[in-house]
Amino acid sequence: MKRTALIGELNESNQGPVTLQGWVSRRRDLGGLIFFELRDRSGTVQVQVDPQSSAFAQADRLRSEYVVTVCGQFQQRPESQRKGGLADFEVLADAVEILNRAKTPPFELDRGSEVSEDLRLRYRYLDLRRPEMQQNLMLRSRVWAAITEFMAEHGFINVETPMLTRSTPEGARDFLVPSRLSEGEFYALPQSPQLFKQMLMMAGYDRYYQMARCFRDEDLRADRQPDFTQLDMEMSFVEQEDVLELNSRLLAHIFRTVLGRELPLPLPRLTYQEAMDRYGSDKPDLRFEHAFVDVTDLFAGGEFKAFAGAEAVKVIAAPELTRKQIDELERIAKQNGAGGLAWLKRSGESFSGGISKFVGGITPQLLERSGVEDGGTLLFTAGAWRTAVEALGAVRLALRDLFDWAAGGPEFAPLWVTDFPQLDFDAESGTWTYMHHPFTAPHPDDAALFGSERQGEIRAQAYDLVMNGFEIGGGSIRIHDPATQRQMFQAIGLSEEEAQEKFGFFLEALDYGTPPHGGAAWGFDRLVMVLSGAASIRDVIAFPKNNRGQDLLAGAPSPVAPAQLDELGLKVQPQD
Ligand code: ASP
Repeated sequence: MKRTALIGELNESNQGPVTLQGWVSRRRDLGGLIFFELRDRSGTVQVQVDPQSSAFAQADRLRSEYVVTVCGQFQQRPESQRKGGLADFEVLADAVEILNRAKTPPFELDRGSEVSEDLRLRYRYLDLRRPEMQQNLMLRSRVWAAITEFMAEHGFINVETPMLTRSTPEGARDFLVPSRLSEGEFYALPQSPQLFKQMLMMAGYDRYYQMARCFRDEDLRADRQPDFTQLDMEMSFVEQEDVLELNSRLLAHIFRTVLGRELPLPLPRLTYQEAMDRYGSDKPDLRFEHAFVDVTDLFAGGEFKAFAGAEAVKVIAAPELTRKQIDELERIAKQNGAGGLAWLKRSGESFSGGISKFVGGITPQLLERSGVEDGGTLLFTAGAWRTAVEALGAVRLALRDLFDWAAGGPEFAPLWVTDFPQLDFDAESGTWTYMHHPFTAPHPDDAALFGSERQGEIRAQAYDLVMNGFEIGGGSIRIHDPATQRQMFQAIGLSEEEAQEKFGFFLEALDYGTPPHGGAAWGFDRLVMVLSGAASIRDVIAFPKNNRGQDLLAGAPSPVAPAQLDELGLKVQPQD
């Protein structure tokens, strides 16, 4: 018995005999009849088995997750039971064949969203049967198809780069693979194909892309996995505008073909400085506004000593808050580096509570600039600019979650963040480091500042694609002349020898005719997470690691046999 359709393909025009195959769920016995849902990857349909039917004896043996073939009449349900869509139809079974039986699942699939994630991951093949997961993976497949279609149409060639390679410069810890043939030596899994894609440009391939697996040994979060997929691309003879324009059109293409929506172009843009200044984040969630207001000048030299000499004083207007809520927000601000979170409550034309006794003289200005509603709360951070804005940025997101601010806005709010700093000062080690990666080109107007006291002001030709508060992608125009590359290494304190040791092969290639080039990479899993509305990146990856980096299904990582270690010349030294 061959199936005649997938369940999701059935519609009014299929009324009549059908043969379907799939899994049984939700069997119910009502008034002598047997009902169950039949599920395949495309949908579910109700099957009814009458006691007189020759299918009844087999149907009576069905349990959840049995695999069956059902032959019967696809027909409309009685009028009183119609609600619209496929749910208005059912299959009246003539024959049921059990293809395989199943043990009782360790959790009810219908309640998959309520059970512990570790249990779902341990039995992922059952979890993946849930319609929600099926939809996520099918969306993922459609986004993938949309991307590869667009890239091919725009002259990009697909090239694979090695998995077993040398450390690549994305600033995370490497996953290492011991070499058997060169004892005591290791491959690194790629953090990105960065150096290879640049060498493809040097090799003259002009436009490259790859759906690349990348590996970064970092602490895990809801939007991170140790191995993940990037849409990686590189283009020759381009400027920043060309890369932004093409990537914007790619996003619009995905929206159109996958979501059936028009995405207005050009996408909004903010410089890094603006994004940080207004939203306290280089990946601002713009589904809602609630920007900060700068009030540094109002407090400068004033009676509130804690703010009087601050480099920046920022304020955000919030609805009425309880003391408990303010305390919780203060905890978040402190966690993000602030010394505290000052507050005021608006009562008519004046303020009460918090720091109100210090703001008598500036009340009208505070009311006007912040636009806070009556009864509402003003929340302030102050101090070094970066700390003040970052801490208030975390508060802004906590307020979003508290008051569901994102629900009032557009479903998707993509934008470009541009003009990232070239260098970042690490206060802990007292050293300069790169912000994007060391091959990113500086803004031509700023390159002269390398090595000067003002090198922190150098802007990079680097950009991020941001959506709903997530970094969806990022890239840069690359350094293509060896002299600038040397300056960059010097600026981050990398000696000639260290640079040779790490990237010698790449620096050598740079000398053999490198075209101007630039590119970007998108976090493909993260993009699908945002498009699907999933709460975790794990919900859009078929077989992800849990938040402790474990694959609970296959059981990885795992110890290996001593013989395997011997062969590699390795010995495990337990750490205390
Ligand atoms: N290699 C960078 C990354 O993985 C992206 C790029 O610069 O193209 O973040």
